[in-house]
Amino acid sequence: MRNFSDRIHSDVLIIGGGPSGICAAIAARKKARLRGFADRDFQVTILERNQRPGVKIGISGGGKCNITHDGAVDELLWKGFIYKPEQRFLRHALYAFSNKDLLELIERQGLRTVVRYDGRVFPGSGCADDVLKAFEKELLNSSIQVLTGERVKRAENRDGFFAVMTETKEFSADVLVVATGGVSYPQTGTRGDGLNIARSFGHRVEKPLPALAPIYLDRVPSQMLVGVSLRNVTLKVTCDGNCVSRTGDLLVTHKGISGPACLSLSRDVAGIQEKDGECRVMIDFFSNYSAEALEKKMQDHAFANGRQLIRRFLQQQDSIPSAFVPLIMRQSGIDQEKKWGNLNKKARRSLEHTLHNFDFGLVKTIPLEAGEVSAGGIVLKEVNPKTMESKKCRNLFLCGELLDYTGEIGGFNLQAAFSTGWLAGWSIH
Ligand SMILES: Cc1cc2nc3c(=O)[nH]c(=O)nc-3n(C[C@H](O)[C@H](O)[C@H](O)COP(=O)(O)OP(=O)(O)OC[C@H]3O[C@@H](n4cnc5c(N)ncnc54)[C@H](O)[C@@H]3O)c2cc1C
Repeated sequence: MRNFSDRIHSDVLIIGGGPSGICAAIAARKKARLRGFADRDFQVTILERNQRPGVKIGISGGGKCNITHDGAVDELLWKGFIYKPEQRFLRHALYAFSNKDLLELIERQGLRTVVRYDGRVFPGSGCADDVLKAFEKELLNSSIQVLTGERVKRAENRDGFFAVMTETKEFSADVLVVATGGVSYPQTGTRGDGLNIARSFGHRVEKPLPALAPIYLDRVPSQMLVGVSLRNVTLKVTCDGNCVSRTGDLLVTHKGISGPACLSLSRDVAGIQEKDGECRVMIDFFSNYSAEALEKKMQDHAFANGRQLIRRFLQQQDSIPSAFVPLIMRQSGIDQEKKWGNLNKKARRSLEHTLHNFDFGLVKTIPLEAGEVSAGGIVLKEVNPKTMESKKCRNLFLCGELLDYTGEIGGFNLQAAFSTGWLAGWSIH
């Protein structure tokens, strides 16, 4: 690192040592070596505000790190990213540094990985810290300078170079990469600093919203429901005529709901809540059946089982946990001891309606800080998807969760961070 009297100069300076910043550094070094630069003649530096880079890698996947997802790149794009503009934007990055490239990189450091039945990839040791250690080794082998405890406050473009100010020092660089992540889990260091830096270079920022987050309800679930899981139901949230839904598993928590279907839907709910206000949560226990098909199923069942209690039938359904049965009966206005033979058409219709639209109350809030990621961020149109270079400022690169994309649960967010980071580092000219 050259010292310009009062300023420390790097060829490439990366703000943020998360997965995207780490990969940007490794790729920048690889490219520099290819271009014939000796490591000592081409300085790549990461400024990280924490005492160790990659904090989120260390806590990811409940400490097990769901590092990526198995499959071809196109499959990852449609499975992992719901919206077309995100898929289009990430396409180049995922092809430039795919899940296979990522696994090769960490396996080179001696870490074996395993693919689960659902396509999620984890380290064989089941330990997220091992993934982080593999990247730390790679950083060391790549002669990357990692300066920890350095929180960047500001960055400016000054006639052909960047000046970057931390709390106590001033750095300069020919190329600047901003890789400071989103705004969820602020205790891990992600407090939106990079968004302000990007704004100072003229970038527009979509308001950060929660994603992959639990949903808190205005009336907390009763104690007997807390901890109950629902298998393969459809979670529906309606708001002023809008309805968003997701099918999958759900978990009732002491504040509301969580589980894959809720985490996946939380981003959409946060979006409609932002615009319209009051959102109602409903559960569809029979989403594979139309209203007519479910009524017919119940009619046939009543015909053959007139003496059976209705609650017995409900308890026998895979998608309905027993704890929900008395609540479904009450919402349908049907006595708990009612038998099929005594159920009239109006009551049967009411039961069908409740099974398709079980009212679970109103959304109170979706905590931004508790989401695995945050939606929103730097507007994608202002970043070149083929290089991750800013369209507002030459030699400024932006990557990772800081950008306005959001992946689903399943290793897609880490993969996107690694891939966009790699593409940024590789594209430095
Ligand atoms: C609890 C949890 C579990 C998760 N599990 C998974 C999972 O299993 N699989 C998956 O795919 N995704 C998972 N994610 C999401 C994934 O971790 C993130 O999407 C990913 O880490 C984003 O990478 P990034 O490099 O863009 O940002 P981050 O990982 O957020 O890294 C940004 C870095 O920048 C640093 N920084 C911020 N501001 C400054 C500043 N001003 N100066 C210097 N440094 C700064 C931060 O300290 C941080 O180290 C999980 C997230 C959480 C919170």
